[in-house]
Amino acid sequence: MTSAYDRLLSLLKSQHLIQSVEGLLGWDEQVNLPPKSAGFRSEQMAEMARLAHEAASDSAIGDALAELETDRANLDDEQQVVVREARRDYDRVIRLPAEFVSEKARHSSAAYHAWAKAREERDFASYAPFIERHIELAKEEADLQGWGDRPYDYAVDLHDPGFSAEQISGLFSELKAGLVPLVQEIEAKAGDTPSALRGFPVDAQRTFLREVTQQLGFDYEHGRIDVALHPFCSGDGLDVRMTTRFHPDEPLDSLFSSIHETGHGLYAQGLRSEHAATALGQHIGMAVHESQSRMWENQVGRSRALWAYFEPRYRELFGERLADISSEELYREINAVRPTLIRVDSDEVHYNLHIILRFEIEQALFRGDLAVADLPAAWNDKCEELLGCRPSHDGEGVLQDVHWSGGAFGYFPSYCLGNMIAAQNWDQARQVLPNLEDEFAAGDFSRLLDWTRREIHHHGKRYDTSELVEKVTGKPLSPQPLLAYLRDRYGEIYL
Ligand code: ZN
Repeated sequence: MTSAYDRLLSLLKSQHLIQSVEGLLGWDEQVNLPPKSAGFRSEQMAEMARLAHEAASDSAIGDALAELETDRANLDDEQQVVVREARRDYDRVIRLPAEFVSEKARHSSAAYHAWAKAREERDFASYAPFIERHIELAKEEADLQGWGDRPYDYAVDLHDPGFSAEQISGLFSELKAGLVPLVQEIEAKAGDTPSALRGFPVDAQRTFLREVTQQLGFDYEHGRIDVALHPFCSGDGLDVRMTTRFHPDEPLDSLFSSIHETGHGLYAQGLRSEHAATALGQHIGMAVHESQSRMWENQVGRSRALWAYFEPRYRELFGERLADISSEELYREINAVRPTLIRVDSDEVHYNLHIILRFEIEQALFRGDLAVADLPAAWNDKCEELLGCRPSHDGEGVLQDVHWSGGAFGYFPSYCLGNMIAAQNWDQARQVLPNLEDEFAAGDFSRLLDWTRREIHHHGKRYDTSELVEKVTGKPLSPQPLLAYLRDRYGEIYL
């Protein structure tokens, strides 16, 4: 007779295969879908979602888990992790009644269209009832999951298991205290000159970003990069799909968003693919994912060392466009600091303030201290307080992000936690891997990649995020390494 553990593995494998096909259809929808095939695709997606839910809630998983849990002592270390996480996932799925799941999916789809229209027309009032309903659904879901008294913590835990709003509040207020004065100091010196990089041919941009991402270590035998409206990365170890976009006048947007997605891709490719169906081969959460993408994008991608290696090739490809731009000017452009109201256009110095704003607002909404109708005013006030500028309309304020239309509350903090983790890991890597930047300047990034594989990727979900940070760096998560890194990098340029 097959052992309960083998039965569990085979059920998880089938679930993972269905999810990976679902992911591939989602990727294809954004990259390849012919304009009039959307209706058919949404039927295909709905059917795949049904199959995925059926596989994830299969009572045979519950039976296998129950059997394994009565005899835990017989499980080895890794099997314990698989069983623990499979139990967590399974319980989360079966606690939600089918009607609730379809009601939430229906509402999310309607809310997405309401958001897109409201943003276009700068009409928050038409979208407000959809956010209200989403908050009700989020509270109802937390209740069904046994988190009724802490609905926002539940939302956070969905993206980054183990974190609580209170812990994040502590980290963010320490970050804010250091960041607001630093940003003001840099803004006072940075001025606001527009970018001089214009008219970069797209073909050459494509060539350059392919060379850079490959050199960083992305395996194009197990992945690819294509063009989509928004950059993203999906898939896992054996087949990773990234996207980017091109604009002749914004060559750095394309390049750095590609390096960012490459960081996600390197994490996905570093997970142990033989365990792709279980917690041993899956990512921990969004904050750690983001820490990988941000480290490659910022600490590595915007460094003098990397550009010492790649600048000659950049000039070879874009000679004419760069003729009047010195190396130092190019480096400043790569690390330009320009305040903006829009989060996704933000530079790395301002970025975390955009996140803190959203986190504070989400908490107030969930506590009931802020009514949805008062959201635009609260947003604009906070924007002024944190970023020193006020949106002239809601399109560049409260309506700018898609997240809430899908009910994704508690997601924004991951971006900022990811930046903190990236800086803390980077500090550690530089300590244990001396002369790292000399190697970057010679085009070799392998020692850093191997270190992240060993220290982070190979653990899968064995540890939660806080435990992993402590294990990798020897210290609890703190905003101080991020503050020190920003002061160091941008202070050298601007102060
Ligand atoms: Zn990302």
